[in-house]
Amino acid sequence: MTTIGNLICLTPRDSYVVDEPIRRRGLLGRLEGATGPFVRSPGIGFPYLVGFLRKDRVLSSGTRVAVQHDKIEGPTPFEDILRDKVDLRRGDRDVLFVTAYTNSAREAYRRAREARAAYAAAGKRLTVVFGGPHASSVPDEATRRGHVDATVAGEGEWAAAELLNDIREGRAVKPIYRSEFARIRDRGTLALDMGIWQGLRRRPQQIVASTTFARGCKLDCHFCAVFLTNGPNVRNRDVSDVVEEIRSQGPACTRETIGEIAPGLYNSLLKALVRLPVLGSLWSDRLIARMGPGFTDRFFFWDDNLYNAAGSFKALCEAIRPLGRSWAAELTIDLAEKPELLKLAYDSGCRDLFLGIESVSQTAIDGLDKWSNDTKAMRERVIRVHNAGINVMGAFVFGLDGDDPSSFDRTLEFIYDTGIDFVVANIIQPYPGTGTFKDAISSDDLLPCTRCPAHSDVAMDYNWPLFDGAHVLVRPKGMTIDQLQEGYYYFLREVYSLTGIVRRFRGHAYELPRAASHLARNYLVSRYGMIKTAHAIRRKSARPVNSIGATEHGTSATGPRHDRAQPAASPRRVKARPIADASNARG
Ligand code: SF4
Repeated sequence: MTTIGNLICLTPRDSYVVDEPIRRRGLLGRLEGATGPFVRSPGIGFPYLVGFLRKDRVLSSGTRVAVQHDKIEGPTPFEDILRDKVDLRRGDRDVLFVTAYTNSAREAYRRAREARAAYAAAGKRLTVVFGGPHASSVPDEATRRGHVDATVAGEGEWAAAELLNDIREGRAVKPIYRSEFARIRDRGTLALDMGIWQGLRRRPQQIVASTTFARGCKLDCHFCAVFLTNGPNVRNRDVSDVVEEIRSQGPACTRETIGEIAPGLYNSLLKALVRLPVLGSLWSDRLIARMGPGFTDRFFFWDDNLYNAAGSFKALCEAIRPLGRSWAAELTIDLAEKPELLKLAYDSGCRDLFLGIESVSQTAIDGLDKWSNDTKAMRERVIRVHNAGINVMGAFVFGLDGDDPSSFDRTLEFIYDTGIDFVVANIIQPYPGTGTFKDAISSDDLLPCTRCPAHSDVAMDYNWPLFDGAHVLVRPKGMTIDQLQEGYYYFLREVYSLTGIVRRFRGHAYELPRAASHLARNYLVSRYGMIKTAHAIRRKSARPVNSIGATEHGTSATGPRHDRAQPAASPRRVKARPIADASNARG
C-alpha cells in the first residue's frame, strides 16, 4: 500500500493574463493589493472533487489537501508551496492535480514542470495529474508530450477515484483515466467541500457562494465543448442537495459573534458600521451578508444551462425561494417563452442571467445549431427578461458564417435598443473536439498562428495561449481577418465606452442610485474585471472596422497582438434599430 501524504489542487493563470497583464490597476486594484481581494470565485471543480473523494473515503484523513489558486494568489513558487502548504513528512507520495481550460494549458504544463523540479529537489515522489476542460478535449496531449503522469478526462470524480486507488494499491498509473458520465440524481451522489478554499494564502473576504443543479445541456451547439466535459445528456441532481449546499455557504459571523472576527480593513469597517447607533441595529444582518467574511449572499449556479426542462426548473425555483437569497445563472433564452417561469425565477431570487444571444444573424445562429435562439423573437425575449426584474448579461460571438463587416454595428444597434445590461464578446474559437474545430481542419481554414511556436518553452499540439476568445484563429468567410480582429476591438470599445454604457441604461435620469450602480458596475467590470475587454478598450487608436481594406494581415507566427499600432480614426456611431430588421437584412 502507498500512502498519499498531500493532495495539491492547482489552478493556473490564464495565458492571456501571463502574456498581457493589466499594468494599470487603478485605485481599487491598489487597495486590493494592500488589503487582499474582497470577492472572488475560485471555482467549483476542486470542491466537488475533494468532497467526493472524502465522502467515498478514497482520501483518508491522513491525506492533507492543499489548494494553490494562481489567479487569486499569484504564481507562488513551488518551493514556497512545499514549505507553507504541504507537509512533506506525510505519506510515501504526493499527488498534484492541475486543472486547465484550453487557454491556460501552457501555464498548467509549466506549473507541472516546476512542481516536478521542486519535488525532485526535496527528494519526495510526486504524481502529476492533469484534468479539467482541456484534458477532456485533448486527453492524450499532456502525457504524450511528457508534461504529466496521467490525465483525467470527462467527469473527474469517478476517474480520479480510480487513479488514486491505483496509486494507493501500488499499481502503475495509466496515461488516461476516463469515466462514464454517471447518474447524479440520487441524494448525496456528489458532495461539495467549499471549505478547501480556506487554504488560500490570500483568502478573499468573500467567496462567491456556488452550486450546481445539473450537468450537461439540452443543446449541442456546434462550437461548444460542454459535451466533452459534462456529457452529452442532461443529468439533474436532487434539489434538496442543492438547497443544502447553498445553506452551507453563508457569512462566517453573526451580529452576536462579530467581535470575534479576525482583524483587517474589511472587518474593522464592518464592525464600525454594525456598531453605529441606528444604522447598526437596522441593517446589521444585511451589512454582515454584504461585507462580512465567508461567502457572498448572492449565489451562482455553475450549470452549463440552468433551463433544460420546465418541470425541473420550476421545482428548483420553488425549492430555493424560501432561502430568501438572490442568485445568478447561465441559461438559454427560450426561458422567456414562459413568462410564468420568469416570474417564478425572479420570486426565487434570480437577479442576473447570462444569456448566450451569440448573434443577430439567423444564418449564424443556424450554423451553430442553437435552436433555442430565434433572432426575430430575440428583442421581445430580452424585454420580457427585463420586465421580470432580471438583468441580462448578453454573450455575443463574431466571425460566424453569416457575419460580415456590418455585424459589429448591427449588434451594437440591437444592444442599445434592448438595453442589455452587461456584454461579453468573443471571436469564434475552434476549441478542440468541437464541430468548429473539425470544420476548420477539414476546410484547411485554421490560421498559421494556431501552430505551436517553434520557440515555445512548452511543447503543445497547437498554440493554446491564443485560444482566448480574443484572437482570430479560423479564416472568416464574410470578412477579412483584419476586419474581424479590429471589428471585435471596435465593438468592445464602443459598448463599454461611457456613451455606450449610458445608452444601455434602461432607467430614467432621475433614478440616480440605479444609474450610478449601472455606470459603476459596467465601468469597473470592463476596466478591471474582464481583462480581454480591458485590453480592447485600451486600444484607443484603432481604425473603425469599415475603413479596413480587403487585404489580410495579422497572422504572424505569434498571431495578432493587442498592442499592434493602428492609425487613429473615430468609430462611426450607430442608431438604434430593432433586431428583427437587422436579422432580416442578413436574411
Ligand atoms: S446552450 Fe450553451 S452550454 Fe448548451 S451546448 Fe449551447 S453553448 Fe453549450
